[in-house]
Amino acid sequence: MAACLDQWRHAIVECEDAGLPGQVRDIESVSRMVYSVMLDAVAELESRTIATAAGFRNTKQLLAGMLNLSPAEAGTRVAHAVQLAARRTLTGEVLAPLLPNTAAALAVGEIGPAQVRVITETMNAIPACVSAEDRDVAEAELARHARSFNSTSLHKIGQRILAHLDPDGPRPRDEQDSASAAGELRFWDRRDGRLGLEGYFEPEHSATFRSLIEQLAAPRPATESVPDTRTGPQRNADALLEVCGLARAAQDCPTAAGEPPHLTVTIDWDALRTGLGVATLDYGTQISAAEARRWACDAKIIPVVLGGKSEPLDVGRAMRTVPLSIRRALVARDRGCVFPGCDRPPGMCQAHHCRHWIDHGETSVENCVLLCEAHHRHVHRTGWEILIHPGHVEFIPPPIIDPTRTPLHNPLRC
Ligand SMILES: [Zn+2]
Ligand SMILES: [Zn+2]
Repeated sequence: MAACLDQWRHAIVECEDAGLPGQVRDIESVSRMVYSVMLDAVAELESRTIATAAGFRNTKQLLAGMLNLSPAEAGTRVAHAVQLAARRTLTGEVLAPLLPNTAAALAVGEIGPAQVRVITETMNAIPACVSAEDRDVAEAELARHARSFNSTSLHKIGQRILAHLDPDGPRPRDEQDSASAAGELRFWDRRDGRLGLEGYFEPEHSATFRSLIEQLAAPRPATESVPDTRTGPQRNADALLEVCGLARAAQDCPTAAGEPPHLTVTIDWDALRTGLGVATLDYGTQISAAEARRWACDAKIIPVVLGGKSEPLDVGRAMRTVPLSIRRALVARDRGCVFPGCDRPPGMCQAHHCRHWIDHGETSVENCVLLCEAHHRHVHRTGWEILIHPGHVEFIPPPIIDPTRTPLHNPLRC
């Protein structure tokens, strides 16, 4: 492939004036065709669930990590792949893409990614009440116009099509009587074990919440090969969890029977050791054994031995898996999360055992590093290796992120 491109580069230098515009046109259409092949490849990644098998949340997070794309760029690739790549049924039957005309125009290089973006955005804005036929006509129209108009003009054409299909525009939100409360927050247990959240703050209270969450949810400065792969909503969730962690750690935090709020996790010793299987929380919610391993990495543990009928036979003494003296030494060395590019201070970090204490890893400065909540989770899931040298810490990316596995360090720390 590279040799072929070199030949082309050479041909351009040799090319006569009259032939040069044609060359530029050819290069543009080839790059568009390559984008179409890229979308097919992303769709394959997605349908073979390669990302989750490698420990990533989804294909988007994998792409962002693998190609140094921002979460927004990676999200666009996945969204375009979903709409433009051919689909397969469970039985392997091949179906046409969701946007067939757009896919066909891109595949032959007649339109580019910017026009694809306008078309997908316009199609997504069509309200659900519009019939499938009208939707298909709109897509064919947009793909036809995209061959002769740039993305700015195409956007205007798209708006006109939308106005025609949906003259009323988006529905206004229901007016709600504002009460004296700061707002409303509802939460409930979802069937998938997650906690659902929904609510609002009155305008006068919005700033208090937003300023703090937005500050904590800012992407961690991206170094060369480790951009922050979390989406905005994911960063918000992490920020809210950090606020909870800080509140829990605060001196005047409410306590339950003299104990700071805590969780009981019941897990089989073998499951905790191997990370295979499940653990159960107070309310019967199940988490993976791998997640329980991460929690146990830096926690206060009270061992309870259960008998055959689950009655406690022996309750041990509460002990911190990382004592205060070690934590202080870690704070002195690491000065915060040591993951490449992260700037979280020590107060927001947990101590991670490079070799887990369950696997007889020592709780020592030589075996522990400080990681923020998000990076602690990331390291446990995606197979980063951590090497602790005197005075600095190196991170070795998993092969799927960097096949050469070149060590990285956090330039913000040392
Ligand atoms: Zn850990
Ligand atoms: Zn971090």
